[in-house]
Amino acid sequence: RSMSSVTVPPPACLLRPLEAPLRYLFGPGPSNVPPRVLAAGGRPIIGHLHPEMYGIMNDIKKGIQYAFQTENKMTISMSGSGHAAMECAVFNAVEPGESVLVAVNGIWGERVAEIAERMGANVHKMVKAPGGYFTNKEIEQAVEKHKPVLFFLTHGESSAGLCHPMDGIGDICRKHNCLFLVDTVASLGAAPIYMDKQSIDILYTGSQKALNAPPGTAPISFNERACQKMFNRKTKPVSYLFDMTHLSNYWGCDGKPARAYHHTGPVSGFFALRESLAILAETGLEESWRKHKEQTANIVHHVTFILQDLRLPSVTTIAIPEGYDWREMLVYIMKNHQMEMTGGLGPSIGMVMRIGLMGYNCEKTNADMALQALADALKNCKKTRG
Ligand code: PMP
Repeated sequence: RSMSSVTVPPPACLLRPLEAPLRYLFGPGPSNVPPRVLAAGGRPIIGHLHPEMYGIMNDIKKGIQYAFQTENKMTISMSGSGHAAMECAVFNAVEPGESVLVAVNGIWGERVAEIAERMGANVHKMVKAPGGYFTNKEIEQAVEKHKPVLFFLTHGESSAGLCHPMDGIGDICRKHNCLFLVDTVASLGAAPIYMDKQSIDILYTGSQKALNAPPGTAPISFNERACQKMFNRKTKPVSYLFDMTHLSNYWGCDGKPARAYHHTGPVSGFFALRESLAILAETGLEESWRKHKEQTANIVHHVTFILQDLRLPSVTTIAIPEGYDWREMLVYIMKNHQMEMTGGLGPSIGMVMRIGLMGYNCEKTNADMALQALADALKNCKKTRG
């Protein structure tokens, strides 16, 4: 018997078939993906620099412009999850040593503050407990005090279940020569946002929430003010992969006749993203916003956490029922109902449970099923006190 040159044998687990169960994804994302989007992602691969791929990327750009309500030509999708867009925005718009102001009322502000700190920005935080929001007056005072080049605010704070008011903040930033950066990963398609009308300079989202595409791509758009700042920097951004001078060329946004190789984009992910944006275009933004609001209202009688007017229509936070162990309830619901709901995240851990009904999942039958699962857990999980 001849000696094999390999010393690490093929792993036994890979000799068994893939198991990915069917689940109701009623947490804060990823959401279930409609068959049409899955099928798009399953089409044969083409080259990332083929003309057909450029056509698909141009369709994606148009779809993002519609979803964001913007005419910005600097509109692309990141090859990466929502965090890639967070890093792209900060890395390109800010140079080391510059002042950045971050509104923190849940985990997403905390994350962006850390991203900005890591690249050497001078970070100032305005902090509220999860579920809190900032008045325009508070924002203006902090902008006047810290003179930031960038102000960050989360539109849909998925860790708290809050949808932050947006009107007037872009004008405050403009008045003080500061860029306004907004995170809509958890709210795009579920709650109204108007990038141009609301004077938002940089806006990003994720693919896996109300858009109902698989995780792994993240739309982002920069207006003229943002381009002026990021293309007139003294230093290069710390990331090669996220450098907008390269990405704008890859996406055909820089006016140059040829697109050059920068990185190999996630071809299947872009097929799926294109299809999810096509569904949003067919449905219409207003109908999509209406559907999310309606189904949130259907689960809302359990909610005691967020002021009614500020409830995020994609992710609903529920105060943990008195005397119950939230972890036990979530495990019970997964085991007996094949349904994902989640606990809090970051500062909201131990405060809330979260139910998300997004896009394709946004149906009355699903809201009813989620409520039944919750009621079943309340009946069968042990109550320790209260
Ligand atoms: N921002 C918000 C508001 C989110 O809800 C999420 C995802 N939960 C992210 C950013 C990060 O996105 P990803 O997990 O795709 O990196």
